[in-house]
Amino acid sequence: MKLSFLGRIAVVKMNVLPRMLFLFQTIPVLKGLKQCKEWQRALARYIWQGKRPRIKMKILVDKKERGGFSLPDLSLYYEAASLLWLKDWIRLENRDILDLEGFNNRYGWHSYLWYEKVKVHRGFLNHIFRGPIYQVWERNKNLLERKTPWWISPLEVLTIRKTNMEEKNATYEELISKTEQGNKLRPYEELKNLFTGWLQYHQVNDLLKEDKKKLGFEDKKSKFHVEVVEGKNKILSRIYDMLLEWYTKDEEVKEAMIKWAIDIGHNLDFEWWEELWNSSIKFTACMALRENIWKMIYRWYHTPVKLAKMYRLKNKRCWKCGEAEGDFYHMWWSCNKVKGFWELIYNELKKILKYTFPKRPEAFLLGMMGK
Ligand SMILES: [Zn+2]
Repeated sequence: MKLSFLGRIAVVKMNVLPRMLFLFQTIPVLKGLKQCKEWQRALARYIWQGKRPRIKMKILVDKKERGGFSLPDLSLYYEAASLLWLKDWIRLENRDILDLEGFNNRYGWHSYLWYEKVKVHRGFLNHIFRGPIYQVWERNKNLLERKTPWWISPLEVLTIRKTNMEEKNATYEELISKTEQGNKLRPYEELKNLFTGWLQYHQVNDLLKEDKKKLGFEDKKSKFHVEVVEGKNKILSRIYDMLLEWYTKDEEVKEAMIKWAIDIGHNLDFEWWEELWNSSIKFTACMALRENIWKMIYRWYHTPVKLAKMYRLKNKRCWKCGEAEGDFYHMWWSCNKVKGFWELIYNELKKILKYTFPKRPEAFLLGMMGK
């Protein structure tokens, strides 16, 4: 089937992704991301039809609002699915599943997740689900929680686990009151029902002191806590978005944007770019036209300069005027032959719109009308 570039991305999103997600959510058992990376390479081969890629993978997978193409990133989806699973270990509500998955755990789940008990009890990782899921957590936990998480239950950390144990797992969030002297355990009288006794209250207090010294607490709950741990719906895509944001962070100022600024000779406001990605591009439902705009933004086309580099040719002159060097900007804007073409369009537009406007390259090439 012959599909356009955007069409092929849509196929991956609608056809391949749901199948992969089913797999990831049912059996999160991959060790490392090697397999995911391999699948991603297969997707890339399909998207580019075996040809040389013209846009970086990071931009392909970035969100549309940030100028990307939102091609699914399978590694990140795999990690998101694993973290979704791990949510049960954090919430400690589904006791039946937890007893099953943690049948030979020596410590509480939170001890493994936050207090490095994995180093003491290596057996924790020798489990078909626990090992790979913990790996994903380890890779991402510093991004998700920079300081002591408010969802930690010090009670769960301190109790030695037994199966079928009905226990109360009050979290730091419930146990702590924020005072002017910092975070303090609420008075024993208020919390009495949550503890087995006075001794446990003191143990928790000691753990709190340690945590305050080690990493301390953030003023507010983390995004991960609010959106994922406490989240109710669309959690998988929320985790995915969070991971994606970090993954693509250094791509924020896109190469293409810099190149355009150099060519045009002044900076194009970031807001203009955002407007272009978010609304201007939707002026047409025609995929071929939309694709042309993307190709323009990302300077997709092979120019004589690019071809000369690729095939080590001597001649990199413009094939229209045969004089100047044929770089991207020349081929589309500054070449005299091309100028004549834009002049015609400009004059027609003036007639149609019945007013004059400055003849700027960003308006003609990118559709940025500005203010
Ligand atoms: Zn030329």
